[in-house]
Amino acid sequence: MQKNQPVVIHVPHASVCIPPEEQLFFVTHDLSREIAVMTDHYCDDLYDTGDTMIRFPISRLVCDPERFREDADEGMARIGMGAVYTSCSDGSELKHISRLHREEILSRYYDPHHQRLERAVEEKLRHFGTCLLIDGHSFHDVPLPYESDQNTPRPDICIGTDAYHTPDDLTECLFQFFQCRGYSVAVDRPFAGSLVPMKYYRRDSRVRSVMIELNRGLYMDHGLNRTSGYQKIKEDIAAAISHIS
Ligand SMILES: [Zn+2]
Repeated sequence: MQKNQPVVIHVPHASVCIPPEEQLFFVTHDLSREIAVMTDHYCDDLYDTGDTMIRFPISRLVCDPERFREDADEGMARIGMGAVYTSCSDGSELKHISRLHREEILSRYYDPHHQRLERAVEEKLRHFGTCLLIDGHSFHDVPLPYESDQNTPRPDICIGTDAYHTPDDLTECLFQFFQCRGYSVAVDRPFAGSLVPMKYYRRDSRVRSVMIELNRGLYMDHGLNRTSGYQKIKEDIAAAISHIS
């Protein structure tokens, strides 16, 4: 049963689905490896707490809803990883996309997803006067070449914050919670920020947002199999979200 509380979970990178009509535009020789390293495997299950969840149904290799829509606003576009990627995580070519095709992808996948997310937040604000958005991700246990933070060892858990939408006490509370359960925790490294729908971005502080990123080594191996830690981290995420909401 869905919980009736002002929480929206956003899971943008868990899908491995590449629609057949998009497959022929990929030029990389190792698409399966790219899917393996770039997907936030199992996050749609790990973050499934019974709260409202908005999950992107398509692989981020087709379209990444976590990026700004326009390349001019998106820093990662410089390395071919804006809202529609053209580069792989090692810098090699991922696919050929015309400007027109890029726009088609954005209107087919990116725009409806953001509308769904915005509506979910809007509904929570209407009912509760507040909304807590949890941006749910995971990261590769070893830094991938495209990542700006190459430091090792990586923490178990990274908490991503936004200066406007993440109150300090929320960050502190989450940090303490995971640390008390034995995890190493870092704030805004290796990944920073937390997503907020553009309608509310830096305009409405009733929308609080925090990103939780899990080190995939906590719950899966490089063969994409779940490991023995899976159930524990799943339970701890649910407890953490219930604690902060
Ligand atoms: Zn992610």
